[in-house]
Amino acid sequence: MERLSSYVLGRWQPAAGDLTTLVDPTSEAELAAVGSGGIDFRAVLDFARTRGGPALRRMTFAERGKLLAAMAGAIHGRRDELIEISIRSGGTTRGDAKFDIDGAIGTLTYYAGLADKLGTKPWMLDGAGVQLGRTPRFWGQHVLVPRSGVAVHVNAFNFPAWGMMEKATCALLAGVPVLEKPGTPTALLAWHIAQTLVEKAGLPEGAYQIVVGSLGDALDHLGPQDVLAFTGSSATGAKLRGHAQVVRHSVRVNIEADSLNAAVLAPDVDPSSETFGLFLNNVVLDMTQKTGQKCTAVRRILVPSDRVEQVRDELVAQLARIVVGDPADKNTRMGPLASRSQMEEVRAGIERLAKAGTIACGGTQPVRAKGFFVAPTLIVARDGRDPTFHREEVFGPVAVVLPYSGDAQQAAEIVNLGGGGLVCSAYSNDAAWSHAFALAAAPWHGRVWLANDKMAEQSLPPGMVLPQMVHGGPGRAGGGEELGAERGLAFYQQRTALQGFQGQLQSGW
Ligand code: NAP
Repeated sequence: MERLSSYVLGRWQPAAGDLTTLVDPTSEAELAAVGSGGIDFRAVLDFARTRGGPALRRMTFAERGKLLAAMAGAIHGRRDELIEISIRSGGTTRGDAKFDIDGAIGTLTYYAGLADKLGTKPWMLDGAGVQLGRTPRFWGQHVLVPRSGVAVHVNAFNFPAWGMMEKATCALLAGVPVLEKPGTPTALLAWHIAQTLVEKAGLPEGAYQIVVGSLGDALDHLGPQDVLAFTGSSATGAKLRGHAQVVRHSVRVNIEADSLNAAVLAPDVDPSSETFGLFLNNVVLDMTQKTGQKCTAVRRILVPSDRVEQVRDELVAQLARIVVGDPADKNTRMGPLASRSQMEEVRAGIERLAKAGTIACGGTQPVRAKGFFVAPTLIVARDGRDPTFHREEVFGPVAVVLPYSGDAQQAAEIVNLGGGGLVCSAYSNDAAWSHAFALAAAPWHGRVWLANDKMAEQSLPPGMVLPQMVHGGPGRAGGGEELGAERGLAFYQQRTALQGFQGQLQSGW
């Protein structure tokens, strides 16, 4: 069985120590072993700070952008092979594998394009300069400079390609070296991507390191210029945020955690309209794409009380057409969950949700003799405000229909019971309704996605994270923010107020 090495200190270090076995979630066949025993994490962080950081900071934004383009090219060069690895090691269908891998390439390419616009100064300007003295000679200007530490990235298992590259892209473009730690169940794909990047992308030594397996005592060695960006469950996020060394040195932390994303159908939407069709399609896509293991997937579906049966029947009919099975089979629309523990957690979650509602389709019964499969499961709640549906994310192909009155304000109140989310979507052709909903839901969400007949045909689904727009959300969702064009770089930069002679501040750097 293959043992996955880690790339640290400028070389591949073989897996050692307590090994974890990775399995194919479809066949349960053993694929590889990972383990990070023996790695000197203090040295790894220092290597990034003293080798990778200075090399990146000597480059202009445009030069760093070329690195991102080379990374995108390297991944693209092995795209077909990486898709096969994703299918085998992550249980993804071909379409789901492309979603992850093309998401990585697309994000790198977008930021490579943005880099050219960021100029050749060693910093980015933050807003316009201001006159501070009697005349403009005494001047102030906020600037954003790269932090001189290392970015430690702890990634979730569900997007081994896109998740890792989304974080690495912004850090490298800002001029900060990265230490990546992929989620273990799907680390095989991340490891292959790392090999490609190390071999083909021409990254400066120390700019990109990856630890496959546990992070060991790495967090104990974080310092005041370092940053820690995490994607995963709220529980792990809370643990990392409270780490003694992180607190002691005010290490900057970004948490991307779980979210009970909602889709809301407004009462005005005609069943024959494009908006209604889009609503159904997007809900089914979110429930089944990546087997529901998407942080932005819809978990709660708010429907006016008098239309619950209609929506339930339409969704059950569409979900019945989803072929669940071996993701390598081209007819399969939904594969297994990524690991046995995920399957067990999802089944337990369905049982808990079903106590407060009725299962309309799916459930906990086994789908196939082998593999980590769960059927697409729709539950109809008895009471839309029941806390059972607003406190727990079931990370699989599971969603709940929640009845509400049809009032926009009430819809937002129910959606906001989720305690803070990544995205919520609302479907209405009534501008006043959409406006009232968006205003009431926005403080609790990183993104509010509004559909109507005018944009239905051109829209990208709400579950899709785009590099142009911010990703993250308050409260339960972690309180973090990533991407959003230049905004995504700010986490890796220090905002400094420069004050001095205008002529000097505006030229000569
Ligand atoms: P998880 O169990 O919290 O693990 C996330 C990452 O943290 C993994 O790399 C894990 O490593 C690592 N980890 C766990 N305990 C750690 C510790 N004590 N110290 C250092 N690292 C530690 O989450 P997951 O099961 O991988 O991912 C699913 C969750 O992620 C879902 O709740 C989903 O909603 C959320 N998610 C959120 C976003 C977003 O952008 N907001 C995106 C994707 C996923 P191991 O794998 O080695 O245990």
